[in-house]
Amino acid sequence: MGFANVLFVGVLLPLLLQNPSSKRELAKKIFLKLTVKRISELAHLLSFGLCILLRMKSIQTREDWLLEAVELLRPLFKAKGYLIPPVQVSCGFTSTGVRSGHVGQCWTKSSASNEINQIFISPTLTTPFEVIDTLVHELVHAVDDCKNKHGPVFKKIALKVGLVGPMRGATAGPVLKPILLDLVQRLGPYPHGHIKVTMRKPVNRNRPRAKCKECGYQVPMLKKFLTFGPPICPVDKVEMEQVGNWDEEC
Ligand SMILES: [Zn+2]
Ligand SMILES: [Zn+2]
Repeated sequence: MGFANVLFVGVLLPLLLQNPSSKRELAKKIFLKLTVKRISELAHLLSFGLCILLRMKSIQTREDWLLEAVELLRPLFKAKGYLIPPVQVSCGFTSTGVRSGHVGQCWTKSSASNEINQIFISPTLTTPFEVIDTLVHELVHAVDDCKNKHGPVFKKIALKVGLVGPMRGATAGPVLKPILLDLVQRLGPYPHGHIKVTMRKPVNRNRPRAKCKECGYQVPMLKKFLTFGPPICPVDKVEMEQVGNWDEEC
């Protein structure tokens, strides 16, 4: 920003907005002295600043951010020949539960009283990129009203839009990634505090247990009693077999 620009923004603009006519006259004079080029340059700068200001002001909630993202994604889908239907998008856990690990969900039109696809983006996601990436996946579901799950029709749309990988968890590929990163830049920060969920420990299928080879009776073993050896089957009164990992390290 040159000196004239600083002058315009810092001095002239406030003067122009004030009432006393003498000041206004003075402002007008200085204003006319600015070159046309500089004025257009300034107008551009101001409109850009205003855009950022308005955007910063308008995106205060995750829903606003998500809906704005949908609008920015519409042309991308349209260019591939697909129309994003009207959608409602919220930040929320999926119906499969907090610990399901599912990061997004799209509901069919018929499941909502307003006949509009309802999308939920998990609050466990941390970065704006993860959010928009998941949003694209869910929008693909919205395009076919979730009729084809992750089948061939879904795959066709997903690949065209730029998603890759196993379709259940299809995410942005090398072409889509930079586009989404750019959109994320334009959207600004996702107004969000992500929820930290501790995932359930995967069941250890190899945990030590004892099994009766006569009747099949099984009991899980406590680690501290492994040295005692396998118990006696209450039915057959024979020593049961060791099943799973009876190693101390396990
Ligand atoms: Zn999906
Ligand atoms: Zn038995």
